[in-house]
Amino acid sequence: MKFTFCPDCGAKLIGRKIGDDGDVPYCEHCNRPWFDIFYNCVIVLAKRGDKYALIRQHSGDGTMSEERYVCVSGYIKTGETAEQAAVREVTEELGLKPLSVHLVATYAYNKKPMLMTGFLAELPEGEFSLSDELITAQWFDENEVRTKFKGSSVCDRLFDDIKGEKL
Ligand SMILES: [Zn+2]
Repeated sequence: MKFTFCPDCGAKLIGRKIGDDGDVPYCEHCNRPWFDIFYNCVIVLAKRGDKYALIRQHSGDGTMSEERYVCVSGYIKTGETAEQAAVREVTEELGLKPLSVHLVATYAYNKKPMLMTGFLAELPEGEFSLSDELITAQWFDENEVRTKFKGSSVCDRLFDDIKGEKL
């Protein structure tokens, strides 16, 4: 999100050069810059052994395809670490608390102002207990995951990095 008006006082912001950042929206009344902000999310590929748990989810705002199998993902809450968000999202969505989560890489999402932190999670034994947000969750092997992720930029890049052992 880019600021045009000061969120504190409502004044129209002007461009001001700040250090190496170039022109930054600045409030002359409050004497402070308003840097662009973006969402922080986690994207988590959950596995057990050599099988991967992918989900299909209800499209809340119509931006997601309900037909597509994807990784678990969600917003990081204020005060939460990315690791905690990864564990929470997997537990909420699949009903299984990961035994471990490993940071893989971060991904800038090009369709929304969003930074996604990618994890690989190892799931314990047990059955899924799905969140109401999900349509279904299903286990796939590596080749099936490749096919399901084709055309899904962030899931595909996360899987590439996991298989490339960038861990
Ligand atoms: Zn202001």
